[in-house]
Amino acid sequence: MSNVRLLLIGPPGAGKGTQAARLAEHFGIPAISTGDIFRENVKNQTELGKKAQSYMDAGENVPDSLTNDLIHDRIAQPDCADGFLLDGYPRTAAQVEALEGMLAEQSATLDAAVELVADVEVVVNRLRQRAIEQGRSDDSEDVVRHRLGVYAEQTAPLIDVFRDKDLLVTVDGLGPIEDITERILGRLQAAGVVAS
Ligand code: ADP
Repeated sequence: MSNVRLLLIGPPGAGKGTQAARLAEHFGIPAISTGDIFRENVKNQTELGKKAQSYMDAGENVPDSLTNDLIHDRIAQPDCADGFLLDGYPRTAAQVEALEGMLAEQSATLDAAVELVADVEVVVNRLRQRAIEQGRSDDSEDVVRHRLGVYAEQTAPLIDVFRDKDLLVTVDGLGPIEDITERILGRLQAAGVVAS
């Protein structure tokens, strides 16, 4: 148990999901991916899934109200009491604000925002490969380009917000998976964020 609260930010295809799983294991905290939760809901055709599907297929963000409610409920679960790692949330300024409110409700604070940096052409190639391997409906080339545009417009500006709060840890997302995890853990340790 760690009492560490982290989030991962970076463009689609930067490897957030892969690193999220490894970091969550290291710290003994749950990794929470809004994308995975939405996809599960779409698969099961829940009410939430039905509402989210058209946005996801178009590569648009799901509306903030739905996304914030989802995270509000998820981080109130008992397994999040001693920390969690958010993958793909927050993605908009309104989500940052909502998260702050949720953390305040829990008398908790964010320890770090980890930015995974990856070049556009690299991520487009990775997602092209993932489209072949996993057949995700939003990994077609035009939807990928659109998701990158949405990221640049709505999510990338949040990096400055986390930098201003002194929470930003920026890590190069290129290279072997293990090396990237080590880089992140090294940077977190230097920032005083360690498993307890
Ligand atoms: P990627 O980071 O590769 O775009 P995700 O699995 O994180 O993949 O997200 C897939 C889709 O799920 C997004 O394009 C969006 O429609 C929806 N989604 C995920 N997280 C959020 C969020 N925080 N806010 C709004 N929509 C989201």
